[in-house]
Amino acid sequence: MITASTCARITPSAADAADWRQLWREAVTDAGELLALLELQHLAGRLPPADAGFALRVPRGFVARMRRGDARDPLLLQVLPQLAELDPAPGFVADAVGDMAARAAHGVLHKYRGRALLIASGSCAVNCRYCFRRHFPYGEEIAAAGQWRQALEHLRQDASIGELILSGGDPLALVTAKLEELSRGLAELPHVTRLRIHTRLPVVLPERVDGPLLAWLDALPLQKVLVLHANHANEIDPGVDAACRQLRDAGVTLLNQSVLLRGINDDADALAGLSERLFAAGVLPYYLHQLDRVQGAAHFEVDDARARALIEALRQRLPGYLVPKLVREVAGDAAKRPL
Ligand SMILES: *Cc1c(COP(=O)(O)O)cnc(C)c1O
Ligand code: SF4
Repeated sequence: MITASTCARITPSAADAADWRQLWREAVTDAGELLALLELQHLAGRLPPADAGFALRVPRGFVARMRRGDARDPLLLQVLPQLAELDPAPGFVADAVGDMAARAAHGVLHKYRGRALLIASGSCAVNCRYCFRRHFPYGEEIAAAGQWRQALEHLRQDASIGELILSGGDPLALVTAKLEELSRGLAELPHVTRLRIHTRLPVVLPERVDGPLLAWLDALPLQKVLVLHANHANEIDPGVDAACRQLRDAGVTLLNQSVLLRGINDDADALAGLSERLFAAGVLPYYLHQLDRVQGAAHFEVDDARARALIEALRQRLPGYLVPKLVREVAGDAAKRPL
């Protein structure tokens, strides 16, 4: 095998481009293997059949940040299939975010004033157990399906849209050439002045922040915002720090959104630690989301009273700019609903 470092010395940009996709493909997809890597083989008998209907997927670099021998590791619990996912839970439904799946078929969600959201990709490098996506694996690569044009046409006809949000799935799952194609189309829309990217990739696979991606961002004549998704301080390691630093150097404002998850980050120490660690990486906390009530995720739910108490505890101990806004997505609302 030609290693990434050997390649890098020969052709830096080509090696960069190949590297993250290789790491993506090499992700752990077998729960038994994941447990073995973490010296937790004895838990194999407690795995649900067929991954409880939602494939396990986690990049090896993210597994390396998990503690060996700790079944309660906060990173492991985000990705390991659990028997609890099979428990029936009233109110937890397949379509937890309204008609999201149907509208996503057209690629563009225009719910909030001034901002349009494009489902740019259906893929993710990691499968998070609490995600609504577990029941709606969007078609692969909406962008590749020739829908760029349709999406851009929608944006062209509405001059009130000042910000385009790329979401998914994970929009950085697209190869950079695809992103360049999109931004060439955006260049014809003078009213769109901001590009926002919602992505978990710089956290779970920081190698995605490679030379071509940085060059694209750096050259983009728009204001650039990247909203990361990390739920626990342990997710941020020196590789993530370096990716964040390079993104900031390319003129990108970095924010983070988290989901409040029982047993993972539902205590004041964990949340304060996350905010502090994000800031050390040059990232400001933005939203703390109450869980979407999606079937299979009930065991992660934290009740509203406790969620409010946690935010209050953060207010007492952190500077205001390190306290995320606690919100819930409610179908039909004109904005995320503050709790
Ligand atoms: C969350 C969301 C946004 C962004 O909302 P902000 O409050 O600006 O972060 C935009 N469009 C849709 C459809 C969303 O779900
Ligand atoms: S990265 Fe985001 S969209 Fe993808 S599975 Fe995780 S929470 Fe869902």
